[in-house]
Amino acid sequence: AGGEENGGGGGSFKMPEIRYTKLFINGRFVDAVSGKTFETRDPRTGDVIASVAEGDKDDVDLAVKAAREAFDHGKWPRMSGSERGKIISKYADLVEQHAEELAALESLDAGKPVGVTRVVDVGNSLHSLRYFAGAADKIHGETLRMSRQMHGYTLREPLGVAGLIVPWNFPAVMFFSKVSPALAAGCTMVVKPAEQTPLSALFLAHLAKQAGIPDGVINVVTGFGPTAGAAISSHMDIDVVAFTGSTEVGRLIMEAAAKSNLKQVALELGGKSPLIIFDDADLDKAVELAIGGNFFNKGEACVAGSRVFVQEGIYDRFEQKIADAMKNWVVGDPFDPRVNQGPQVDKVQYERVLRYIEQGKTEGATVLTGGKPCGKKGYYIEPTIFTNVKDDMIIAKEEIFGPVMCLMKFKTMEEAIARANDTRYGLAAGVVTRDMDVANTMARSIRAGVVWVNCYFAMDSSCPFGGRKMSGFGKDDGMHALDKFLAVKAVVTPVHASPW
Ligand code: NAD
Repeated sequence: AGGEENGGGGGSFKMPEIRYTKLFINGRFVDAVSGKTFETRDPRTGDVIASVAEGDKDDVDLAVKAAREAFDHGKWPRMSGSERGKIISKYADLVEQHAEELAALESLDAGKPVGVTRVVDVGNSLHSLRYFAGAADKIHGETLRMSRQMHGYTLREPLGVAGLIVPWNFPAVMFFSKVSPALAAGCTMVVKPAEQTPLSALFLAHLAKQAGIPDGVINVVTGFGPTAGAAISSHMDIDVVAFTGSTEVGRLIMEAAAKSNLKQVALELGGKSPLIIFDDADLDKAVELAIGGNFFNKGEACVAGSRVFVQEGIYDRFEQKIADAMKNWVVGDPFDPRVNQGPQVDKVQYERVLRYIEQGKTEGATVLTGGKPCGKKGYYIEPTIFTNVKDDMIIAKEEIFGPVMCLMKFKTMEEAIARANDTRYGLAAGVVTRDMDVANTMARSIRAGVVWVNCYFAMDSSCPFGGRKMSGFGKDDGMHALDKFLAVKAVVTPVHASPW
């Protein structure tokens, strides 16, 4: 790729030029110490987009050294919150000015429809930066009347150097979900983007420098999980690691933190979220939410509502309607504006999802729509809906992370609550009903980080996001997101001669 036009049938989009492929350490783009590179590929074809520097432990050491120096001696943690906020706002303006280029980069590297990346991926990135630009001067402690003789207050101080390890499904959004609050808190950081999608993080590092974020505050080390990622989670001079990705790797990160310097850990992991549709639901709306909840971003979403429970009174009509609606769903080149669903991110994920689909068939579920790969090349999969799914089938229990929906029937609210909670995950849930009592009871009863009532995927930088159980802990978004990047310090002093 590089500058050519792609007339994807109905629209013409400029393919992004790949300008940044090296590690970003201490404000400079540099080669990996080892000189090694790896390839990032176009999921539409499997062709190489670019060779990118492959960082490992030596590079992480250099990045941490730069971040440590910027934290211990630099301006960033010592600025007032409003000064930091001003620079973060400038960063947002620059991202906005480069919105088209960033959107195209995301579409190319991650296989997402261009219309979506411009609105959702770039839009959410901007929201995140602007929300946390505004949050930077609203970080404050408490005053405590401990006793008549003792007065206390708390300081909330930047915690130090943060290690931020992010996945490939929303590369820019994930980058900012960690970077924006870390910046607002006054931390310095080493970011490791996913090896499948390293390009946007490097581009965003370049914009951070242009915005005036001091050298060493944001460092980006591209590379693989077991090398670069593990070097972050086991580093002795990183104070907190914030991770989004699989539950499996989340466990490795906690282990590495425990075995190294007991750094703090925040984990945003997988899910198998329930979407529960009651008899009184607006059926069209429910169908739309189930489709969006499962096939948006080709099902590569931790919050995907992949267990769809439909109450028995409307089940048959729902099944018919969703099968009809899927006839208008277009899978194809993400640079074609008519397309709803692009290719899976890479060959590994593509094969993994297809294995789950075969597993569903073997387990005895019925294929209502899809059920196989499509396209002559690239990693395209038909949006697949399984019916006759039992709760104990593998496809109903494990996170598939692809365009696969399990449709199940239920009778009562109590049954729906029990089955919705019968999972090791607890990330998100959706409830579709017109009955406020049912909605409120469900909202209280489901053990998840967020319950969406008559909507799905409704995320915002102001709304705390993050799971429980094996979906992890710690929040991204909202003021809670700052907590993991701040240390609370109590200061206590005697008060003499206080009359009160
Ligand atoms: P992953 O968890 O392996 O990768 C996420 C990030 O962690 C990447 O940056 C990766 O390089 C890094 N990583 C991998 N191994 C590491 C290690 N030992 N130490 C430190 N960092 C490490 O995810 P994946 O393998 O790309 O995808 C596998 C599954 O994970 C998916 O199918 C899906 O179920 C889940 N997933 C979830 C999310 C989410 O948003 N919760 C995102 C991506 C993937």
